Amino acid sequence: MYPRAGNFSSIIKEHPYLNMKIVVANWKMNPPTLKRAKRLLSHLENVCGRIKNLKIVICPPFVYLPIFSQSNLILGAQNVFWEMKGAFTGEISPPMLKSLKCKYVILGHSERRRLGEDYSMIRKKIISSVRAGLRPIVCIGEEKEGENVIKIIKKELLSLLNGIPPKFLLAYEPVWAIGSKRPCPPQRAKRALFFLKKYYPKTRILYGGSVSSSNASEYIKVGFDGLLIGSASLNIKEFTKILLALTA
Ligand code: PEP
Repeated sequence: MYPRAGNFSSIIKEHPYLNMKIVVANWKMNPPTLKRAKRLLSHLENVCGRIKNLKIVICPPFVYLPIFSQSNLILGAQNVFWEMKGAFTGEISPPMLKSLKCKYVILGHSERRRLGEDYSMIRKKIISSVRAGLRPIVCIGEEKEGENVIKIIKKELLSLLNGIPPKFLLAYEPVWAIGSKRPCPPQRAKRALFFLKKYYPKTRILYGGSVSSSNASEYIKVGFDGLLIGSASLNIKEFTKILLALTA
């Protein structure tokens, strides 16, 4: 099922490029107007231009991608359809995202699963995205606090990623921690991280779930390669604080 097992610390030494941390901003269905999106864009260009040694990926709603694609920001989308072309009203294809300079796409997010996306749909999206040259950021994690995390993420890896070349990132996002202001304690999140690293030693693994400037660096300290940030990424002051905490 998995490409290769390995020792976590030796992998970090072998692959120093893994040390470039990545921050992914998931804006969800925000901001509400184009005017506000443009204002955020200009603040972000300012901030991101000053931050070195950190890869910052902004995932705005689809409708704002054309204006964002004219900036120097690294872009991601929040979803994509699995077909490359055809009559699929309302859907967005991987080549469309590529043409708007998207490099990443968030897939399997719990907020989409709640709307009915199942394993087979997410898997098809991952395969098509990889085929089109996009890097999926695949979200996995348990629904409820106290569930058997390893058992759940093992099942998710098997259902979503078995046989797919590891040209993706993984985001460990305990669903109960998303948007709840109840982040998963870093020492607990570390267990999922180590399990994932064992099977995907070369894959970047992010943490997501109520990240703020007061906890961001803790996840990096325990070994995560980056963060997936929702609400805090829309508050420029707080987002800047997070970026600075990671570069300090
Ligand atoms: C998310 O949307 O993936 C997320 C982690 O949200 P928040 O940071 O608001 O918990």
